[in-house]
Amino acid sequence: MKYIFVTGGVVSSLGKGLAAASIGTLLEHRGLRVTIQKFDPYLNVDPGTMSPYQHGEVYVLNDGAETDLDLGHYERFTNCVLTRFNNLTSGQVFENVIKKERRGEYLGKTVQFIPHVTDEIKARIHDLSDQNPEVDVIITEIGGTVGDIEGHLFLEALRQFSLEVGRANTCFIHVTLLPLIRAAGEIKTKPTQQSVAKLREIGIQPDIVICRTEHDLDDDNRRKIAMFCNVEHRNIVAFRDVKHSIYECPLDLRRDKIDRLVVDNLGIDSPTPDLSDWENFVERLINPQHKVTIAVVGKYIELQDAYKSIYESLTIAGAAHHAEVTIVRIDSETIETADPSVIIGDVDGILIPGGFGDRGIEGKILAAQYARTTGIPYLGICLGMQVATVEFARNVCNLEGAHTTECNKKTPHPVISLQEEQKGIKDMGATMRLGSCDSLVHPGTLAANLYGGEQLIKERHRHRYEFNPAYLDQLSEAGLIISSVSAEEGLVEIIELADHPFYIGAQFHPEFQSKPNRPHPLFSGFIEASLKSTWRGSPGPQA
Ligand code: GLN
Repeated sequence: MKYIFVTGGVVSSLGKGLAAASIGTLLEHRGLRVTIQKFDPYLNVDPGTMSPYQHGEVYVLNDGAETDLDLGHYERFTNCVLTRFNNLTSGQVFENVIKKERRGEYLGKTVQFIPHVTDEIKARIHDLSDQNPEVDVIITEIGGTVGDIEGHLFLEALRQFSLEVGRANTCFIHVTLLPLIRAAGEIKTKPTQQSVAKLREIGIQPDIVICRTEHDLDDDNRRKIAMFCNVEHRNIVAFRDVKHSIYECPLDLRRDKIDRLVVDNLGIDSPTPDLSDWENFVERLINPQHKVTIAVVGKYIELQDAYKSIYESLTIAGAAHHAEVTIVRIDSETIETADPSVIIGDVDGILIPGGFGDRGIEGKILAAQYARTTGIPYLGICLGMQVATVEFARNVCNLEGAHTTECNKKTPHPVISLQEEQKGIKDMGATMRLGSCDSLVHPGTLAANLYGGEQLIKERHRHRYEFNPAYLDQLSEAGLIISSVSAEEGLVEIIELADHPFYIGAQFHPEFQSKPNRPHPLFSGFIEASLKSTWRGSPGPQA
C-alpha cells in the first residue's frame, strides 16, 4: 500500500479537495486502484448538525455517514465508493480517545496527545487500508491550512505514519497559493516559501508542491520555489484557475504530469494514462450544442456550496445531452409574496432540493404548484418531494391546511409525518433515515422508464419525515402515482404525475450518485424533458 498526503498552505479554498480528487482520477487512469479520505480538524463529530452556512452541503455516503462535501468530489472524480472510514474529524478522534479512557483501555497510563491522540489518527489510515485490501494507493487530504492550531496533531500523526510505513511509501503534496500583485505585475512566491517552511518545522518535507495560480508558472519562479522549499524543480506543479469547469482540473494538473511525479516518487510502475473518456466529457461541457435553464428553488441559494452535488448533477446530466445548464437560483421566500410566474419566469425546468425547517416552505409549495399547473418539468428532491405531496393534497385533493408535521404539528391533514417509531426521539444528531436503501420501482411508470426497466434501485437517504400511508389511497385516486416504495418497509420513495411532461418527486437524494459520463437517471430524464421545452402547452392535472 502506498500513501499520498495532501496538505494546504497560505489560505483556504485553494481547491485542495479538487487536487486530491484529480490525482485520484489520474491514478485510476493509470490503472491503479485508489481510495481517498478526508481528515477534518474541526471538533464537530460530523458535519450532520452543522448549518449549511458554516459548512455547505452534507454529503451522504452509502453507509449513511454524513460527511464533508469534498467526499462528493472524490466519488464523482473516481470510481471509489466511500464509507465512514473515509472521513475523520477531531470530534471523532477525541470521542474515541475519551471513550477508551473511560473503558480503561489505556491500562492506567496518562492519556496524552502524543501518542494516544496521534495513534487514533494513524489508526484511521490503517483501518481504511484494512477495509480496502484491493486498493493500491490511499490519498489522505487534511482539511484547513498548515499553521492552524487544530490541524497540528493531524500533521504530527502523518509525520509519524510516514516514518512507520517507510518514507519511500509516502508522498507529501503541499498545495499553496501564488498570488499575483497586480500593481507590481508580479507573481509572489514568498507565501509558498513560508508555508512550506511551516510544514518543515513540523518535520514534514513535501515531495511535490502544487501552486494554485491565476496564470502560468514561469521557469524562474519554479526554480525559486524549488530552491527555497527544498523540492526538486520538476516537482513544482502549476494548478491554474480552470476556465469552464472543475472537471478540467485533472487535465490541468496533467500538463505538469503530476501523476507521473507521484508514481515515480512512490516507486510505482504504471502506464501513461489514456484520458480520452475524461477529455470527451470536458469537451461536451465546454462546447455545448444546446442550452437549458433550470430554476433551483431553495433556502440557501446565495451559498455556493449548499447544494453542491445538485449543481454538479445538473451539469453532468447537461453534458450527457450536449447542453449547457444555466442555473437560476431562487430564494423560495421571495415567491411567498409575489406571483411565481414573475419570480420563476421563463425557465425550462424547476428543481426543489432537500431542506429542513419551515422558512420558505410556502414558497416551495407555490413553486411545485406552478410546475404542476404549467407543465414545466419538475424534479423534487427529499423536501422537494414532500412539498409536491403537500401541494397536491391541498390543491388537487382539496385537503385544506394539508402539511408536513415538520412545519405544522397541528395540521388537519398530516400528509407527510414522522414514522411512529421515530416519534419521541429528541436528539438532533443521527436520528434520521440515513444512507443507501433498496427500493422497488413499479413497472409502467416514468420512473421505471428512466431507470431503464431496473426494478431494484439503491439510493441514499437523509431525512426524518415520510409520506403518510394514511393518505395513499386518496392521493392516488386523485392522480398521484407512487412509482417506487422501499423494499423493506414499503415507504413511498418516488411520486409522479401522469398528465405532465415530467413531474417527479424523490424521497432520496439522487444527486449523491451522479458521475461524469454516468449521469443519474432522474437528472438525465429531467434535463431531457427540460430541453424539449414543450411545457407551455401541456398543463398537469387540475383540481
Ligand atoms: N426535512 C425533511 C425531513 O427530514 C426533508 C429532509 C431533506 O430534504 N433532506 O424529512
